[in-house]
Amino acid sequence: GNAVRLQAIQDVEAYVPPAFDFSVSQTPSEFFGENVFSKVVMQKRLPKSVFKSVMATIEGGKKLDPAVADAVASAMKDWALEKGATHYAHVFYPLTGFTAEKHDSFFDPTGDGTALAEFAGKTLIQGEPDASSFPNGGLRNTFEARGYTGWDVTSPAYVLENPNGNTLCIPTVFVSMTGEALDHKTPLLRSQQAMGGHAERILKLFGHEKPGNIVSFCGPEQEYFLVDRHFFLARPDLLNAGRTLFGAKPPKGQEFDDHYFGAIPERVLGFMMDTEHELFKLGIPAKTRHNEVAPGQFEIAPMFERGNVAADHQQLLMTTFKTIAKKHGMECLFHEKPFEGVNGSGKHVNFSLGNADLGSLLVPGDTPHENAQFLVFCAAVIRAVHKYSGLLRASVASATNDHRLGANEAPPAIISIFLGDQLADIFDQIAKGAATSSKGKGTMMIGVDTLPILPTDPGDRNRTSPFAFTGNRFEFRAPGSMQTVNGPMVTINTIMADSLDYIATTLEAAVAEGTDFDEAVQNVLTQIITDHGAVVFNGDGYSDTWPIEAESRGLANLRTTLDALPELITQDAMDLFDKYNVFNNREMHSRYEIGLEQYILTIGVEARLTSEIGTTSVLPAAVRYQTELAQNVAALKAAGVDADTTALTEVTAPITTLRAALATLKGALAHEGGDDALGHAKHAQEELLPAMDAVRAAADELEGIVADDLWPLPTYQEMLYVL
Ligand code: ADP
Ligand code: MG
Repeated sequence: GNAVRLQAIQDVEAYVPPAFDFSVSQTPSEFFGENVFSKVVMQKRLPKSVFKSVMATIEGGKKLDPAVADAVASAMKDWALEKGATHYAHVFYPLTGFTAEKHDSFFDPTGDGTALAEFAGKTLIQGEPDASSFPNGGLRNTFEARGYTGWDVTSPAYVLENPNGNTLCIPTVFVSMTGEALDHKTPLLRSQQAMGGHAERILKLFGHEKPGNIVSFCGPEQEYFLVDRHFFLARPDLLNAGRTLFGAKPPKGQEFDDHYFGAIPERVLGFMMDTEHELFKLGIPAKTRHNEVAPGQFEIAPMFERGNVAADHQQLLMTTFKTIAKKHGMECLFHEKPFEGVNGSGKHVNFSLGNADLGSLLVPGDTPHENAQFLVFCAAVIRAVHKYSGLLRASVASATNDHRLGANEAPPAIISIFLGDQLADIFDQIAKGAATSSKGKGTMMIGVDTLPILPTDPGDRNRTSPFAFTGNRFEFRAPGSMQTVNGPMVTINTIMADSLDYIATTLEAAVAEGTDFDEAVQNVLTQIITDHGAVVFNGDGYSDTWPIEAESRGLANLRTTLDALPELITQDAMDLFDKYNVFNNREMHSRYEIGLEQYILTIGVEARLTSEIGTTSVLPAAVRYQTELAQNVAALKAAGVDADTTALTEVTAPITTLRAALATLKGALAHEGGDDALGHAKHAQEELLPAMDAVRAAADELEGIVADDLWPLPTYQEMLYVL
């Protein structure tokens, strides 16, 4: 009750955060990657032939030779033991969106009372965790509880420090007995492979004889909130749902814009230093950090890495942030919308493709030849995003992200592409080239000879677009702060595989027929921009007119999760993922089912919490205040003084509303609605959410009326402005 809140305020004031000195004994270059079984470590510790073989897998995309596994395992174990590891863990990424680990001791009893450190190749390559408690969307019968983890050689193993003992962590895929994906990593690797293969076909057409293994790159920008833990613990809604289900807007909102890029509070800076130190040891290239728009909101952006490594690092980053925040007396909130009326948090996924030799294939370059190649990759993105916008939308669909998308702080739910003036203009010209092709080659043909020199930095930025070209990459801004980057990356890779495949096939056929290559490129570019140019939008995505214009362009506006999830099981979507061996139809159905399940669970928890907090915390506080006022009125009357009953009336009205709203919510909670997952989800959306809103509206009104010393929940003002 109120005692908890008032105590929290006192505790916050008395709290002294731990000091952190980044420069203690070493410079970052000395400890960067010190806990990673990196290329350098492998080169030092592995026999030459083994090292070469492993590198062929990591960099060349070759299948891992099982014969080298024992040698790698043994070197890895020795290295880990030197780093103080006592256990090893296969780390995997189940469909809960969290990270899971199964720990095993290195030490096997020998039978004579001693133990020997053992770690065989087969233990490195494969594990068998019980899978029965992870969501599988109908993929696995409960009697086949077994799941298999398999080493992802391309994502480095690392030692995770813990005061109670260190652990060697091995990033793995997680699949069912039948080889179907139960995780987020498997499809990412599959989709990367599909996209890479078709990108290589295009590169060959452009004269790269051996383009090397092409991968996707991902640079995730992570937004988050920090709140003092004393307040966090006094808010059962934050604690259990990750967001506040109650709370009136503070008198001082973010309208002053004084937080964005402002000086970072000292306590927060200490936390950031500490996290970056940990991230560096794990080889995670944390780079940019700054305040975000809302008070208490911040951002970290590590340097981009190949997709699967970035995804693993991103998960590790989130865990590290949570742990270190606690150490500094704070809670790190990754929820997309912890505070209503305050800016939410996203996770921008910066995407490009390429490899170490060629760099990003989305760099315009400054020679016409490279420009043509760049335009082809760019056109592939345009086609992919237009054709499969529904899948992109579905890849970021969640109950929590619904609070953010389209709320004038994040891109709208309409998926469009921002190209910037320069590039948009070039594609305009390309489109016209086709329209007036009768005019003949010379003037209208935008073949490789006449292409303009493109600047690497287009100069302009558009923060309202969900999918924006930013000079050498595309930035997908719709993903939520709590999501893994895997879902969006899987989708982008797969739809890119489809577009690159289409372009490569078209060009190969044209060349085989004897068409001039430049002309064939011109034709395919013109075709794509004509068919898919509707997705290019350089205007203000927050404006009221955009949804209307988008509709006239035939672009979908899938506002909520339940509008978006069915995109996963359309015939087109299932055929696409099946064709590129990313998901079979059963796997697609399982993702859809899990999406619904998570939605139902999330809203169910929130609704029950709203009911509980409203009934046991807010209503009693309001009633106490009402009683106090009533007693005051009675006492005044008894004393023969004129009693003003305005305040009593003022508090009584919202109490009545709150009681009614709680009754409605309890009624809605008493049944599930519908008889399948979609039915239950619709019930959550159509009945629980509005019922929760009604409870909150009455409670928030009471917050402005009830005496402060009686109010039970830490207020927005307290939580947001304390750091
Ligand atoms: P901004 O705020 O302008 O979007 P940030 O510096 O916050 O820029 O984040 C940019 C992110 O994009 C970083 O993670 C960065 O490493 C990443 N990035 C840069 N170049 C590429 C690229 N070629 N491919 C993928 N990601 C990239
Ligand atoms: Mg950005």
